Amino acid sequence: MQKQIFDTTGRELSKSSVSYWVRGIHNPLGRVNPFTPTACPELAYVIGAALSDGNLNVHEHHREILLSVTDRDFAEEFSRCLAKLLSRPSLYKVRWSQKRKRWIVQGASIFLHKFLSRQCRELRPWIRHCRKCETAFLRAFYDSEGSVSGGIQVSNTSKDVLFFVKHLLRELRIETGKLYVQKIAGTILKDPRTGRLYARKKNCYALRVRSKSVLDFTNIVGFTIERKQQKLLEIAGIRVQTRSPGGPGGI
Ligand SMILES: [Zn+2]
Repeated sequence: MQKQIFDTTGRELSKSSVSYWVRGIHNPLGRVNPFTPTACPELAYVIGAALSDGNLNVHEHHREILLSVTDRDFAEEFSRCLAKLLSRPSLYKVRWSQKRKRWIVQGASIFLHKFLSRQCRELRPWIRHCRKCETAFLRAFYDSEGSVSGGIQVSNTSKDVLFFVKHLLRELRIETGKLYVQKIAGTILKDPRTGRLYARKKNCYALRVRSKSVLDFTNIVGFTIERKQQKLLEIAGIRVQTRSPGGPGGI
């Protein structure tokens, strides 16, 4: 009996397609960017952005990895990491969307899409690979979900992800307070850029870095986003005008 072969979308592939595919003559899935998960800070950074609420959208039909954010430097760092993971000779384009009032980066790869669709728990081995990977993951998560206002907060709808973040920070000797409910489900959320209103679907939890650990957070994790990093340096009491390459915020 002939064996049926399916692609990652569940579509059946014909025998001739598979034969052509295996011989490298024709790829039945169209343009496929190869991706093999190998632990590195760039992969940890992309995972951190992917696990952050509402920032990374994976389009089911196009197999796109999309980041839509208000800070250009965050989008540029994501573009750099994505290009490295997908072995692209040039960076992914960072474009401004007037409609969304956000910077957008789009990459396409069925394999990376599938990898990032996993639960946080399953992605942990790639995050926990080494200290560089752990801090790259945290930096992406804080670039995306963190804020600096009197202290350092991070918020997300997933308790699991926040407990994991808390655990990683504790291992880096950065102390945080108790996880708390910041916004309950049903409250109205306003997009500051577009003015559109949304009803929150889930509870939003938050975690705060204890003031005695602010300096350690600055030195060990930091932000890629210059706007947030400057605020952080202010509250950490560090008078620095420019950051040196490879310092906090760089990979
Ligand atoms: Zn590593």
